Amino acid sequence: MFDNKDRTNIQELGEFGLINYLTKNIKIAQPSTIKGVGDDAAVLDFAGKKTLISTDMLLEGIHFDLAYTPLKHLGYKAIQVNLSDIYAMNGTASQVTVSIGISSKFPLEAVEELYQGIYLACEKYNVDLVGGDTSSSKQGLVISVTSIGYADEKDVVYRNGAQEGDLICVSGDLGGAYTGLQLLEREKMIFLENPNIQPDLEGKDYIVERQLKPEARRDVIDLLKEIDVKPTAMIDVSDGLASEVLHICKQSGKGCNLYEEKIPLDPMTFETAREFNLDPTVCALSGGEDYELLFTVKQADYDKIKFKMDISIIGYITEPSAGCNLITKSGTVHELKAQGWNAFPQTP
Ligand code: ADP
Ligand code: MG
Repeated sequence: MFDNKDRTNIQELGEFGLINYLTKNIKIAQPSTIKGVGDDAAVLDFAGKKTLISTDMLLEGIHFDLAYTPLKHLGYKAIQVNLSDIYAMNGTASQVTVSIGISSKFPLEAVEELYQGIYLACEKYNVDLVGGDTSSSKQGLVISVTSIGYADEKDVVYRNGAQEGDLICVSGDLGGAYTGLQLLEREKMIFLENPNIQPDLEGKDYIVERQLKPEARRDVIDLLKEIDVKPTAMIDVSDGLASEVLHICKQSGKGCNLYEEKIPLDPMTFETAREFNLDPTVCALSGGEDYELLFTVKQADYDKIKFKMDISIIGYITEPSAGCNLITKSGTVHELKAQGWNAFPQTP
């Protein structure tokens, strides 16, 4: 990954040297950050707002594969997936902490690339990096990010607020990250069998980016404020549409009707899924990692969102006894099932 001449052994720097190296250029952007990196704890002041906190861990070999994931992208994605959780509460993300475990195969230059992606995401989304932890690991790379944000009490949106008749909406399009992953996995296999063959990802930029470089939908939160719509429930799409819809229904104690024909798919997702003999709808329902926002709104808000380009209305909330249903393009009704990504797959 790095030539010997470009490798700086991290042991030469030591833990504090490394922390200092990685954090020396931090510029604080948020008024709520009173003290960032450098003391025993960061000090934050949200001046009367509710504080939102979310944390996620990414492990090499479980959540990412460095064979096709550039470290800069990985750093960027690690931040995005966390900010997405704050936006899913209808909040503003303001700080993150980043903890890393690094094995001896990583030189300083590798960690530096990872942090380039981390800082790029922080800058773009206007969040401060205010702390973390640094350790060696026996094997592989571990990244844990905690994101912190805030919201007025009246603005916080939970998963449990959906009411009968509410419209189910989703931003962007779905299934792209999963089909992008299929493509990257295939090219990896071809490369492992014959290292002379270069990966062929031509024309597939969109779905490869959906997998490697997702963007949290802060713009959707901003849009909803602008048009004065407060969702009744919201969640981000990390494990697949089906799983997320079921979370909202279960926590709200409701059922739903979801329409297959309304699920937004990018043409490239559709085409690539077909290439892999996958059902594009299944990619959207069970694929995951799209980091779009799924939310419900009152019917009275229909006029405000119906022409918003990037928001699709895909169904509505029903009374609980009706169950959670998927109405297919041919009109048959199926029970909606979550077969999304699971960190603890059962062995057969
Ligand atoms: P402690 O021994 O109290 O845990 P550390 O020496 O681990 O403190 O960390 C010193 C400072 O550097 C703290 O502010 C901590 O949050 C920050 N820090 C440590 N590791 C990282 C990292 N990987 N990225 C950003 N900040 C870090
Ligand atoms: Mg520490």
